[in-house]
Amino acid sequence: CGIVGYVGTGNAGHFLLNGLRRLEYRGYDSAGIAILSAGELHLTRSVGRIEALAQRLGSDAADGPTGIGHTRWATHGPATEINAHPHVGGDGEVILVHNGVIENFQILKDELIGKGYDFKSATDSEVVAHLIAEGLKVTPETPESPNLRFVQAVQWAIAQLRGTYGLVVSFRERPQMLIAARFGSPLVLGVGHGEFFVASDASPLAGCTDRIVYMADHQLAVLTPEGFSVLHRDQGKVNVQIQPLEAAD
Ligand code: GLU
Repeated sequence: CGIVGYVGTGNAGHFLLNGLRRLEYRGYDSAGIAILSAGELHLTRSVGRIEALAQRLGSDAADGPTGIGHTRWATHGPATEINAHPHVGGDGEVILVHNGVIENFQILKDELIGKGYDFKSATDSEVVAHLIAEGLKVTPETPESPNLRFVQAVQWAIAQLRGTYGLVVSFRERPQMLIAARFGSPLVLGVGHGEFFVASDASPLAGCTDRIVYMADHQLAVLTPEGFSVLHRDQGKVNVQIQPLEAAD
């Protein structure tokens, strides 16, 4: 339902929590936040209101330079803490939030279970997390461009998906980077100074940056504290237009 992501030098938790509050108007049944800090993953999920999540997060756990958050409107699997996003793929290599519906999730899930992947939830979304982890296994190292291998793993995975997705993915091995991908479910990038944002609509970005980029279907974005780039799924780099975010009031 709602997505937020942050990479930069500031405090991810602050943006993520406020961003999720601004997405509450869309409705949701559960919510969660993953923060990556010094190679450690802090995953907090909760059924019900964002305020319940905020209380669980406390002040310390919300501190870190990279993170993703989600408000869920369940389509596959009941509204439980285990089914709430973010979901973790592989042995914890991949952390993911997903909006939309993966129509062929059962086939992919059966294949991944056959390969030894351990599913925790009843969601369609968890399939994508494990599929990207499998993508990392089958994609060779790219020493000349360390982020490339992760982009290729996401491309490999999304090429197999039928359905709709707005995805934001973070990687344990590469904590200073987020990858976003969109097909049929909106995503907006926020361009800051030394910090970059992603959200499912522009409302969480107001007050954080006034420069935004609307992603189009079939696009992927790579965000790091140094900058961002947008790629077409199979046609390479896209020159995007940065637009002003009009003040809402
Ligand atoms: N289909 C996913 C799920 O049920 C995502 C739902 C959403 O867009 O919030 O977990």
